[in-house]
This record gives sequence, C-alpha cells and structure tokens, in this order.
Amino acid sequence: MRIVDLWKPGKKPTIAFELFPAKTSKAEENLAKTIDTLAGIEPDFATVTFGAGGSTREGSRNLADRLKGEKGLEVVAYFAGFGLGPKEIASTLEGYAGIGVENILVVRGDPPRDPEFRAQPESLSYASELLAFIRPKFSFCLGAAGYPEGHVQAPNLERDLDFLERKVEAGAEFILTNYFYDNRFFFHYVERCQARGISVPIIPGVMPVYSAKLTETLAATCGASIPEALRRALAGLPGDDKQAALDFGIEFAMAQCRELLAAGVPGLLFYTMDRWESAAKIVRRLRGEGVL
Ligand SMILES: Cc1cc2nc3c(=O)[nH]c(=O)nc-3n(C[C@H](O)[C@H](O)[C@H](O)COP(=O)(O)OP(=O)(O)OC[C@H]3O[C@@H](n4cnc5c(N)ncnc54)[C@H](O)[C@@H]3O)c2cc1C
Repeated sequence: MRIVDLWKPGKKPTIAFELFPAKTSKAEENLAKTIDTLAGIEPDFATVTFGAGGSTREGSRNLADRLKGEKGLEVVAYFAGFGLGPKEIASTLEGYAGIGVENILVVRGDPPRDPEFRAQPESLSYASELLAFIRPKFSFCLGAAGYPEGHVQAPNLERDLDFLERKVEAGAEFILTNYFYDNRFFFHYVERCQARGISVPIIPGVMPVYSAKLTETLAATCGASIPEALRRALAGLPGDDKQAALDFGIEFAMAQCRELLAAGVPGLLFYTMDRWESAAKIVRRLRGEGVL
C-alpha cells in the first residue's frame, strides 16, 4: 500500500513504530520481543532504519521482509544514500522492490564512523538530489525527513525549509519529522511549511524519554533541544531507578501526544529505540482515552 493513502481526509491518525535491524544476537532477541509486542498493537505501519554508508543494507531489508511477511505490517523503509554511487542506490532499492516494499523515506544520511569508508565519486550530496535520482526510476511512494527545529547543519530553520521545498519538488510525498520535546516547534514548523505551499502530510516523531542520559546524548547529536523544565525534571529523577525514568517518559510523551492529536496531526511516529514498553503503553492509553 502507498502510505500516503492512509492520510487522506477523514482518516484516523496513524500509528507507526521505528525499528532498527539488530547487530548482535542479544539485540536480535530483544528485537524479536519488540516486534511481537508492537505488531500486537496493530500499528498502521512500521519503519526500518538504514545504517550509514549502507552498513545495514542486508539487515534492513531482512527486517522489512520479516515485518511484511511474518507480521503482515505495512513498511516504510528508510534509505540513507550518503557516499553511495548510482549502482548501489539502484541495487539497494531494487532489493526493497523485490520484497514488495512500496514506501521509502529517502534521507541523505551522515558520514559512517568506519574510518575505512570511502564515498563513491558519483555519490550525491543531498536528499533532494537522491530523490530526483530515484523518482523517475522507481514507483515507490517516497518521503523525506523534516526537522521542526531546523537540521543541525542548517544556518536557520528558513534555510532548511528552502531545502525541504526542494525535497518535495523532487518527489517527496510525505514528511516524517525528527522528534522534539516542545510541541510549539512542530506547530510552528507546520505553519511555515503551509505558508510555503508545502501541502504533503507531515507526521511528527515522538521520542519517549527512556533515560536521562540517553535523552541528553541523542539530543546533542540530532539537534532536538531539551526545554529547561524537562532538563530539571530529568535531573530530579533517581539515577538508579530505571523504571522511574521510563514512567516519567511515558507521562511526558502522553501529554505531548494528546496535544498533537488535539491539534489534528495526521499520525504519530514513535522512535522506539528497539524498546517496546513505552510506545506500547502510550498507544494503549491514548486508545483507552479515545483520542486515537
Ligand atoms: C525520520 C528520520 C529518519 C531518519 N532515518 C535515518 C536512517 O535510517 N539512516 C541514517 O543514516 N540517518 C537517518 N536520519 C538522519 C538523517 O540522515 C540526518 O539527519 C542527515 O544529517 C540529514 O539527512 P536529510 O535527508 O535530512 O538531508 P538533507 O535534506 O540533504 O539536508 C542535510 C543538510 O544539508 C542542507 N541542505 C540540503 N540541501 C542543500 C543544498 N542543496 N545546498 C546546501 N545545503 C543543503 C540542509 O539544510 C541540512 O542542513 C533520519 C532522520 C529522520 C528525521
């Protein structure tokens, strides 16, 4: 199914979970449990990440295949094209087409950590260029990444939105966003997109707090700011009580999701970090409250 059909007027907000391919046998065990639990929630689709420089090419495809085949889930596969040449781009995407994936989120990606990695000379520099390359060759429903606070490398939000416009012009039919801890960033972002005539569905990303440390580490790399009140609340959590952090994260995300849903967002994308408890509890509670 082309995922954009889920966001036609009059449809219910969608629920989606982001998953990573496992890199170790322990991670694999955890992933299996995560998939079982989250598939049981019957999300509208699952998304599958793609490692920098193609490092998880096989694992990402296998995970997408498993989600579709074993669980019957609709999948949006991410494709990060940083450093990859036209042949690798085409063969990776043919792999996805071959297992029936119909939706691809095209991101530029970042330089891999592997010091041996060398970008192909004909690799493309930006997601808009990747989209323009992919669009005429494949019939996928294509999406792009959005950053409600602006991408970390962008001089400001408006400049970043110039490039978001290019991604939409190049074929992106939907936008999945980075997470944020203050909904005002998302509401402002959507307003700015609308003012520019960007009318594709924009699905907010929600990252529940899993631990104070992880929240700080991730925010530093992906540019999601931590509001002062959240920072103070995180500092007040008992350091040795993992469950207290998870419980806090669920309540914080619940408040965020209620407000987003009340504002009429087309759906919610949960960054699960391959953990099942928080996203599962949040979705069950939102459904129980009748807001989803
Ligand atoms: C929902 C989501 C899923 C993601 N999934 C993955 C994943 O699976 N694997 C992975 O490796 N990464 C993933 N990322 C991270 C993403 O790859 C990084 O944030 C990356 O740094 C930017 O990717 P992009 O597609 O937004 O890049 P682009 O849109 O190309 O933008 C990158 C930067 O360049 C600027 N820019 C864009 N076009 C131009 C231009 N023509 N001239 C000058 N500057 C320009 C932009 O403002 C921005 O600062 C994901 C991000 C999100 C939000």
